[in-house]
Amino acid sequence: MKSIFEKIISREIEADIVYEDGLTIAFKDINPVAPKHFLVIPKKKIKNIQVVTSNDMHLFTHIFSVIQKLSVQEQMVEEGYRVVTNIGEYGGQTVEHLHFHIIGGRPLRWPPG
Ligand code: 5GP
Repeated sequence: MKSIFEKIISREIEADIVYEDGLTIAFKDINPVAPKHFLVIPKKKIKNIQVVTSNDMHLFTHIFSVIQKLSVQEQMVEEGYRVVTNIGEYGGQTVEHLHFHIIGGRPLRWPPG
């Protein structure tokens, strides 16, 4: 069965897409936790970072370059921002498709809840 994010990739579900290339897509989180909250995901279906294999490592280089571009595009660099990826139940992962939260636009507390 397709996950929500696969349906966003295939345009079966609408999303506010802010960046896309052959390997990745980035869109606004539907339930933002801060004024700026984006999700960067690979188009390839990978559950989370726990199951990434050496064959997919090139995706990480690419995803981090997309995060850099997006943070510039969305004017988050000067103030700073946070990159988060959740894994499994205790990690708070609710969608089983690898994604990186890019969160900013306000000071963020630490440690997280
Ligand atoms: P997780 O909890 O798995 O780390 O993050 C999943 C994120 O996906 C959540 O922040 C949630 O708000 C977001 N999300 C879930 N469904 C949708 C959707 O249909 N559209 C968008 N844009 N974001 C979604």
